[in-house]
Amino acid sequence: MWKDVDEETWEDWHWQLKNRIHTLDTISKILVLTPQEEEGIKKSNGRLSMAITPYWLTLMDPNDPECPIRRQAIPLAEEFHFNNNEFVDPCAEDRDAPVNGLVHRYPDRVLLLATDQCAMYCRHCTRRRLVGEKQVHSLNSKTIDSAVDYIKSNKKIRDVLISGGDPLMLEDDELEAILKKVSDIPHVEFLRIGTRVPVTLPHRVTPALVAMLKKYAPLWVSIHFNHPKEVSKRCKLACDMLADSGIPLGSQTVLLKGINDKPYIMRKLMHELLKVRVRPYYIYQCDPVRGTAHFRTPVAVGINIIEKLRGFTSGYAVPTYVVDAPGGGGKIPVGPNYLISQDKGKHVLRNYKGKIYTYVE
Ligand SMILES: *Cc1c(COP(=O)(O)O)cnc(C)c1O
Ligand code: SF4
Repeated sequence: MWKDVDEETWEDWHWQLKNRIHTLDTISKILVLTPQEEEGIKKSNGRLSMAITPYWLTLMDPNDPECPIRRQAIPLAEEFHFNNNEFVDPCAEDRDAPVNGLVHRYPDRVLLLATDQCAMYCRHCTRRRLVGEKQVHSLNSKTIDSAVDYIKSNKKIRDVLISGGDPLMLEDDELEAILKKVSDIPHVEFLRIGTRVPVTLPHRVTPALVAMLKKYAPLWVSIHFNHPKEVSKRCKLACDMLADSGIPLGSQTVLLKGINDKPYIMRKLMHELLKVRVRPYYIYQCDPVRGTAHFRTPVAVGINIIEKLRGFTSGYAVPTYVVDAPGGGGKIPVGPNYLISQDKGKHVLRNYKGKIYTYVE
């Protein structure tokens, strides 16, 4: 479809966005769709509509409906099957929002939802209640200002996580206006951006963007990665640009059935991340958000993945597996149990191979 597109146009992130695939008509010319995919695409008009960058499509296997890149981007009919254990807002973010677009759950840090747009809409998105309406919402500066005022008046807040949607969907000057306002607050020590753009639209990471972000150090970037295939050459270039300008990079991964629920796939992903200077940070249990049952695994699957990583590979390649507690309890780490018993200063421990050791205090 894009064989006549020159390199410069292909590299233009605005072109990539403008040429995203939204319709059943176009996608069915590129992929042989299954009936579940066809029904899913037809029904998913509205919030979290299908939107696929040409770049993301190049990573996709056109012949395999189980392709992990494809499954994250193409809606299935299953998204419209809801069950009783699923919620619209599973982590009760709206309840913990003192002002619009700001979630204050932990004592010293807040989550600022800067936009409702993303480059590609992930079918497992936990914020699907907020994200990706068809018409583009320009940033509401009043909303941002009241969030900034809230942070100003709460001296305990030392860490501001800017997410969305995807804050890198904003133009450089729009994003900079937010970074400036937040970093000017004397008690804010640390900024972070949560994004999937280096994975779904790496062309967005331009020299100008990187130069702008660098000015707001210490600023860390957390990138949502789910599968080793996502760490392409083009993605590596984007990560290199960020890392070369001194921006520390971390990853967040959602545990997804049939996509990354095998220990060897997760191990490969974590290794690929270290190669592009991204430190694995979290693996999330897939939240019980409405219409995502087909993506969810038992919690035991996540625990087993950590069990197969810890000790068997570099400690830097082992993220923390967390369940974001339904009802708004926050992220709770779960993992293998290495402490077998504890009594009068005597600790019975097991190592990664299952051998038992005693540590006496
Ligand atoms: C995840 C999250 C944070 C950041 O948590 P860390 O464990 O510090 O990365 C902050 N606020 C909310 C509401 C969150 O969901
Ligand atoms: S990038 Fe994040 S917010 Fe956007 S659709 Fe994907 S999971 Fe949701």
